[in-house]
Amino acid sequence: MTLERWFRRKKPTKGDDDSSPVGLWLKCESCNAQIYRKDLVANLYVCPECKHHYRMPVDARLSLLIDEGSFEQWSGSVQAVDPLEFVDQEAYPERLKRAQEKFGRKDAIVTGSGLLDGLPVAISVMDFFFLGGSMGSVVGEEIARAAERAAKENRAFIAVTASGGARMQEGALSLMQMAKTTVALDYLAEKQLPFISLLTDPTAGGTTASFATLGDIIIAEPKALICFAGQRVIQQTIKQELPEGFQRSEFLLEKGMLDDVLERAHLKEKLAAYIRLLSGRMGKPNVEVAHAAAL
Ligand SMILES: [Zn+2]
Repeated sequence: MTLERWFRRKKPTKGDDDSSPVGLWLKCESCNAQIYRKDLVANLYVCPECKHHYRMPVDARLSLLIDEGSFEQWSGSVQAVDPLEFVDQEAYPERLKRAQEKFGRKDAIVTGSGLLDGLPVAISVMDFFFLGGSMGSVVGEEIARAAERAAKENRAFIAVTASGGARMQEGALSLMQMAKTTVALDYLAEKQLPFISLLTDPTAGGTTASFATLGDIIIAEPKALICFAGQRVIQQTIKQELPEGFQRSEFLLEKGMLDDVLERAHLKEKLAAYIRLLSGRMGKPNVEVAHAAAL
């Protein structure tokens, strides 16, 4: 086997059942640099050469944002049913069970509470590797419960999204989650608690069209794909050429759909600054707060 083929074989895949780049070495899908996998993980799943942001596993995301030892998990007590008895290449319950066994959780989301730079927060993190992060009845219910509980406990709420959209195997029940999650955010609004959306690659469909884009502040990671329908569908519908990168973070920031695009390395400090700003807990002005205030 040639060296080139060996690297190609080890290249990270984008499939919905792969958790992260695999192998000791990998070739960066953006700049083609050879990267040692441990370096990539240590660098928060960001290419050290070109800063390409790879998709991040849920546990790593929680470690990045939540103060060590402060996380308490809320999710995991509800389980999806199969009202449509949906079968495609395999029956939905079997597909779900396989994902549950592989990832050790009930569905494509983890919610819980913790401290972010000492601030009490609730957080939900979607898992794109679990059935494409699709929002079925469990994902919607967990987000709604987390928002409601955050309001009760006077916590800011941070929703980290990574989702292909609604879960087709649950049909209309999936679509109802859009309304459910949206309404649940009212509990936070009533108590004037901050809700911050952090959109990561990819955020699409019903997730984009509901709670994900309702944040008091909407942040995305660099070059994340954020859309409702995919590029090809839009192109075929309106029969027009679409501008380069029109569904990526930077383009959406320019057009006003996002408030900020932040590199992963600065996420925690900036999130803390935004929460302090929105909560009226600002101490002495500092660089982060000045940045937030400039928006
Ligand atoms: Zn790279």
